[in-house]
Amino acid sequence: MSTTRNIGILAHVDAGKTTITERILFRTGATYKQGEVHDGTTVTDFDAQERQRGITIFAAAVSCTWDEHRINLIDTPGHVDFSAEVERSLRVLDGAVAVFDGVAGVEPQSESVWRQADQHRVPRIAFVNKLDRAGADLDAAVASIRTRLRVTPLVVQLPIGAEDGFTGVVDLVTRRAYTWVDGAIVEVDVPDPAEAARRRRLLEETVAELHAGALEEFVADDALKDATLRDALRELTGTGAGVVVLCGSAYKNRGIEPLLDAVVAYLPSPLDVAPVDPQRPATPDAPFAGLVFKVQAATTGRLTYVRVYSGTIAKGATVLDTGTGRTERISRILHVQADRHTELDDASAGDIVAVVGVKHARVGSTLCAPDAPLVLEAATTAEPVVSVA
Ligand code: GDP
Repeated sequence: MSTTRNIGILAHVDAGKTTITERILFRTGATYKQGEVHDGTTVTDFDAQERQRGITIFAAAVSCTWDEHRINLIDTPGHVDFSAEVERSLRVLDGAVAVFDGVAGVEPQSESVWRQADQHRVPRIAFVNKLDRAGADLDAAVASIRTRLRVTPLVVQLPIGAEDGFTGVVDLVTRRAYTWVDGAIVEVDVPDPAEAARRRRLLEETVAELHAGALEEFVADDALKDATLRDALRELTGTGAGVVVLCGSAYKNRGIEPLLDAVVAYLPSPLDVAPVDPQRPATPDAPFAGLVFKVQAATTGRLTYVRVYSGTIAKGATVLDTGTGRTERISRILHVQADRHTELDDASAGDIVAVVGVKHARVGSTLCAPDAPLVLEAATTAEPVVSVA
C-alpha cells in the first residue's frame, strides 16, 4: 500500500542538509538536474539572501515519491537564530532525519534542535554524514549521540571503507551491502562478514534489552528475523527509546537510497499518529481540518502551505479560516516539487499541500469545513508573506 511520510531534515548548519535534500530530490526523480550548493542552483534554497549566506532561512515543503510512497519534505532551518521557524515546522512533521557531521558528531546546535524535536515527540532517525571526510569516525559520532543526546543509538549500517576510500554501506537489518558506481547502486558481498555479524548481534541485543519480547519470534528463518527486527526498530523509533543510526556521504551520493528506505521503514505514516482531535480522525471522510504552516508569494500566486489533519479538501471548496473568521475559496491545490507543481483535485488527511486562492490565512490559522469549525491552535499575529525568487 502506498503511504505518506511527512518528514523534516534537522541539522546543524553545514552538516549537509541542503546537499541531502538535493540528493533525495534527484534520486526520487523530482528534479531534472542535480544542483550543487556551491553554484547556488539548489532548488530548496529559494531565497537570494539564503544563497548568499549559505544557510536555510525559509521553510518550504517539497513532495517526492519513493517506492510508491509519497514523501513530503518540510524544510527546517538549521540555524539556531531561526528557532521559531524550526518549531513551526516541527508541528506539522510526523518524523525527521537528524543529520550529523561525521567528523564533528553532535554539535551544540544539533543538540538544541534535538531537544525541540523531543518536546514535539517527533520520531527520528539519525544520518551520520560526510563519512568521506578526513577524520570522519562513525563510532565516535555514535558515542556522541549516546552521551550528548542521551538516547540509545541503534546502529543499522556500517561504512564500507573510510575517508577517501568510503565507498558504501552495509545494512545490518536487510543484510545488504550497497556500493555505488557512476551513481548507481551495485550490490556487493559484505566486505567483512564477521564484523557485520558481530555488529548485528550487538544490535539485536540492544533491541532486546530496550524492547523485551520484541525478538521472541526470532527463528532460523532469516527473512522473518529481519522483518521482526525492523518492526522492533520502528516501534523503538516511535517511542523515542532508541534512535536508528544510518551513515553515508551526501556529497559523494552514498547512502541516500538506504536513507529513503529507512524513512519509509522506520518513520510513521500520518495515518498512524494520534489524531489532533478525538472528533477528527485522520480519515478522508471526517470533517476537513488543516493547519497553515507557511505562506509564500510565488509566481503562481500566494501559496498557503497546509497540513491536512482530517477529512478531504477539494479544489473549488469553500473553507472557514478560524484564525481570521473569513471563508475562503480554494482555487488550486498543489504538490510543490523541486522544479514544478502538480495540480491535485483534492487532498486528504495526512497530506501536505500548497493551496492557491486563500488570501488572508496566516501561519497558525486552521482551515476547516465551515459547518464544523475547529481551532487547532491559536493563530499567530500577521506574518509577512515571504517572497519566493
Ligand atoms: P547545510 O548547511 O546543512 O544545508 O549543509 P550543506 O548541504 O550546505 O553542506 C555544507 C557544506 O558541506 C557544503 O560545502 C557541502 O558541499 C559539504 N558537504 C555536504 N555533504 C558532504 C559530504 O557528505 N561530504 C563532504 N566532504 N562534504 C559535504
